[in-house]
Amino acid sequence: MNAVHIDAGRVSIRPSFLLPRPKGHALIRLIVAGICNTDLELQRGYYAFTGTPGHEFAGEVIEADTASLIGKRVVGEINLACGACDWCHRGLGRHCPTRTVLGIVKHPGAFSEYLTLPESNLLLVPDSLPSDVAVFTEPVAAACEILEQVAIPKGEPVAVLGDGKLGLLIAQVLKIHGCEVHLYGHHPERAKIAGVSIGEPARFNWIVEATGSAAGLKSAIAMVNPRGAVIMKSTVHGNVEIDTAAVIVNEITLLGSRCGRFEPALKLLESGVLNVTQMIHARYPLTQAEEAFKHAATKGVLKVLLDNQ
Ligand SMILES: [Zn+2]
Ligand SMILES: [Zn+2]
Repeated sequence: MNAVHIDAGRVSIRPSFLLPRPKGHALIRLIVAGICNTDLELQRGYYAFTGTPGHEFAGEVIEADTASLIGKRVVGEINLACGACDWCHRGLGRHCPTRTVLGIVKHPGAFSEYLTLPESNLLLVPDSLPSDVAVFTEPVAAACEILEQVAIPKGEPVAVLGDGKLGLLIAQVLKIHGCEVHLYGHHPERAKIAGVSIGEPARFNWIVEATGSAAGLKSAIAMVNPRGAVIMKSTVHGNVEIDTAAVIVNEITLLGSRCGRFEPALKLLESGVLNVTQMIHARYPLTQAEEAFKHAATKGVLKVLLDNQ
């Protein structure tokens, strides 16, 4: 089978062996995968990554212990937790210290003709939901995670910094929650995709930093009201420098936020309230992953999909 391989910043497509399916895991044939900023960061050296990336996917189950799964379209939670530790018992397998992560930490990713995941990670894609929409489940889950971490009151003004892929999803999720969302970025026309206001100079109690850049956090701290919160969503390779004095003096809460539960995200996508199709800027066959990565890394480009044809 063909799989995308990242090594020392190079993206290539390689023939690779299909490893035996571990017990409890399903063998999934990729239908479509999405290139996310994290994949581009992995290419740049985040986590000193070598191997097959990819964690946003929709696929079809080919083999599984549970017969009823076979032939079904699925998406899958990306963290493979041990299931036995304290974190796992608290339902927080996403923080299991011995977890592996699909396409990020010690588990071959989805940019491959076939992949495996524990059956317990899988969610069935409703028939009405196209794979091109279901492939957004993981980033939508990351957007929904914010509201699991902080209770932002309905009607509250919120600034979302960054009008890239994640910023647009966060803006939409917060708007649906009832927030008054102001979107800041380099593409004012994108506020329309998310159905929110274009950001103007102002200060906020709530700021979501999703610029994907090292400079974003500094801007967020400069815009937040005393006692306000900055929710940090950018995964940036390398260190980010900030002046902690402003954070301390103004008693600002800095909150890290990563991926979330798939179930609410999939429901939200199924309900049709999110505009994701306008975020698809290009698609390539899996075998042209190198070109697809280049395209995805181009400034101003939103989601690039990889099709397993
Ligand atoms: Zn992602
Ligand atoms: Zn665990």
